[in-house]
Amino acid sequence: MKTKSVQQILPPPAPHMVGDGFRVHNFFPSGYDLDQKRMSPFFMMDYNSKIDFSPREIPRGVGVHPHRGFETVTIAYHGKVAHHDSFGNSGVISEGEVQWMTAGSGILHKEYHEKEFSKKGGPFQMVQLWVNLPAKDKKGTPKYQAITRDSIGKAELPGGSGIVEVIAGEFNGVKGPASTFTPIQMYNVRLKKGGTLSLNLPENFNTGILVVEGNVKVNGSESAPQDHFILFNNDGETISIVAEDDAVLLVLSGEPINEPIAAYGPFVMNTYDEIQEAMDDFWMGKYGVLED
Ligand code: MN
Repeated sequence: MKTKSVQQILPPPAPHMVGDGFRVHNFFPSGYDLDQKRMSPFFMMDYNSKIDFSPREIPRGVGVHPHRGFETVTIAYHGKVAHHDSFGNSGVISEGEVQWMTAGSGILHKEYHEKEFSKKGGPFQMVQLWVNLPAKDKKGTPKYQAITRDSIGKAELPGGSGIVEVIAGEFNGVKGPASTFTPIQMYNVRLKKGGTLSLNLPENFNTGILVVEGNVKVNGSESAPQDHFILFNNDGETISIVAEDDAVLLVLSGEPINEPIAAYGPFVMNTYDEIQEAMDDFWMGKYGVLED
């Protein structure tokens, strides 16, 4: 087995606001001008590093907006997000939970701080990923997976090193609950100080690890501090991690979708004709109705 070597350890790019509720570092595709396919099937990663929001009666967030052609995956580390969509789904994503929404042929949704969280204020830390869909599934029926703490697969690491929470894919025989359109491994790893993690991921899978909490050492030598993203080369299978503090890691690895990408705003399609169609359909109200 060969080591998957580190291509780069990326510090968080300057943050920007999404609506008034999310202060995010965009690691890809724009933060570092990485190729739009570099982390395929993951198209985008917005990381709201931990910040304190002051108490507010009217929750901060992002108003009604459309998506088509991909999936949004929201992972909550601190704070709570409420959401509503034009297919009648709604819910709250709490700490340790994940929302996996398939926009498919088109959906409207809004994303806000949950009411009680907003009133109290406090630490807020989230990740939102856009997971691309293969062309054949881009016009599929929208759906929604609420991934609760109980449903997440849990694999204890040897020697009390910590735990791997399997969101999608499989780790040491433990499966994750998310149903995906292409092969994806997605884990939250909680390591104790000094704890070790060995990963074995296919060579061709695009792979990265976000250091959500703590500092870690990768493949014996390179240090990755909190809030940094470790981008791996596609040159091997194994990764070894040692936690230098108590650490939380988001592991992303997926089989690339080798199809053209045409992306504009909230749409990720294969051609610019399809982008035009997505916008026309939006103006014609084909994504349903959702009140502000
Ligand atoms: Mn959205």
